Amino acid sequence: MYESLSLYIDGEFIQGGGRTEQDVFDPATGSSLGRLPHATRADLDRALAAAQRAFETWKHVSPMEKSRILRKVAELSRERAQEIGRNITLDQGKPLAEAVGEVLRCADHCDWHAEECRRIYGRVIPARMPNVRQMVLREPVGVCAAFTPWNFPFNQAIRKIAAAVGAGCTIVIKGPEDTPSAVVAIARMFHEAGLPPGVLNLVWGVPPEVSKHLIESPIVRKVSFTGSVPVGKMLAAMAGAHMKRITMELGGHSPAIVCDDADIDRAADMLSTLKFTNAGQVCVSPNRIYVQEKAYDRFMARFIEATRKIKVGSGLEADTKMGPLAHERRLPAMAEFIEDATARGARIETGGARIGERGNFWAPTILSNVAVDSKVMTLEPFGPIAPVVPFKSLDEAITRANSLPYGLASYAFTHSTRNALQIQNGIESGMVNINHFGHGLPESPFGGVKDSGIGSEGGSETFDGYLVTKFISQMD
Ligand code: NAD
Repeated sequence: MYESLSLYIDGEFIQGGGRTEQDVFDPATGSSLGRLPHATRADLDRALAAAQRAFETWKHVSPMEKSRILRKVAELSRERAQEIGRNITLDQGKPLAEAVGEVLRCADHCDWHAEECRRIYGRVIPARMPNVRQMVLREPVGVCAAFTPWNFPFNQAIRKIAAAVGAGCTIVIKGPEDTPSAVVAIARMFHEAGLPPGVLNLVWGVPPEVSKHLIESPIVRKVSFTGSVPVGKMLAAMAGAHMKRITMELGGHSPAIVCDDADIDRAADMLSTLKFTNAGQVCVSPNRIYVQEKAYDRFMARFIEATRKIKVGSGLEADTKMGPLAHERRLPAMAEFIEDATARGARIETGGARIGERGNFWAPTILSNVAVDSKVMTLEPFGPIAPVVPFKSLDEAITRANSLPYGLASYAFTHSTRNALQIQNGIESGMVNINHFGHGLPESPFGGVKDSGIGSEGGSETFDGYLVTKFISQMD
């Protein structure tokens, strides 16, 4: 795979040709895995032209054929999950079982889009006159530009590609340069499944240069981005200046509320598993854990015990539960969160530092006595740090949970129906999980409110961002 890192433009896999290249590193060892070619400006223009040309035919292709291709990609993803997963572990760092699981779950996403794209219905509006027929059609928006991140490289890319392709759009996608293998594998599968040239194009480069070029092109009609809030706001502003539609799946700072009537041990075990999945580099990671005072000591003891058992190591080792951070720039970011929190009085209950000097390993970290204005409580840590804060009343916990501008996911543990209702009604977030973690399925919408984004991916909402509405009124 690492010899075949390439661009994919107009149905052609492209490498070399004197293009600028960058190294792709293994975050567990720091060694280079291969070289990734950057698109030239001419490559970007060729990708845009190919997507524009392909749109003229792809938009008329039957939903049955689109469905067939998406199903074929689902089948290939299942067949190749081990190989693709191994490459994700190599360039991203997550444990192999998580990487393979990501690919298999995405096969389900492809199947879901294959089914739903056959049900993009319009409607008939009863007319005021007998000789008039009024209809609403839903048409593909056109050429899309998409930008996907490095934490779930397969998942984030395939959600956008499946939605665009299923809706009848064409797409130019810039994948994550740090973790490119998954997106190249996706392009290969669509190619082998018979997707016509130009419908999907894959480019790499310097992110701000590529995004500016693509978003400002008059060919592009829609922009989809998954990544940080500041970058999302910048790209949304650029898209707005050119009146282009957007889907923004941005960061979160998810609260988890543990009420004292909950099964405390279960909550502690589940939150420890979820928090340290993918080394905390997850937009829906539980980043602020609020525990009701009466249950605080018991929760803390169990949470620390469960977290200390997490085996950190190379994702390729069978017993590893948490791999390295995906990029070395995340190490100083973690150190800064810890320094800031401890300077404001936080106590490190476990972890708190880098492990070793080779690879980007950071110990799973729990903080107590954390000041509410600490950076770790207000900025997305995007790493394995869990601050735990006690609360008295549920009103207080909900107010604190809503106190940040983020609104992606939230979690709560309670056996009280009254508490559960108060949480469902009171929490400002796109996804609320009570007593389990249930979001992220193909059939459920995934997306945030407030600064966490605009639009949903998955669910029956999945094509909304890729379609425009056309009203037809006809008189005989
Ligand atoms: P970053 O803000 O530099 O980059 C985040 C992502 O955006 C990367 O994939 C990057 O390639 C891309 N990006 C950056 N500038 C861009 C531009 N001008 N145009 C197009 N794409 C651009 O930060 P980072 O160090 O890579 O990641 C850390 C932060 O990113 C985290 O704090 C987290 O908030 C965010 N992040 C969020 C998600 C998510 O799933 N929502 C995923 C990855 C990273």
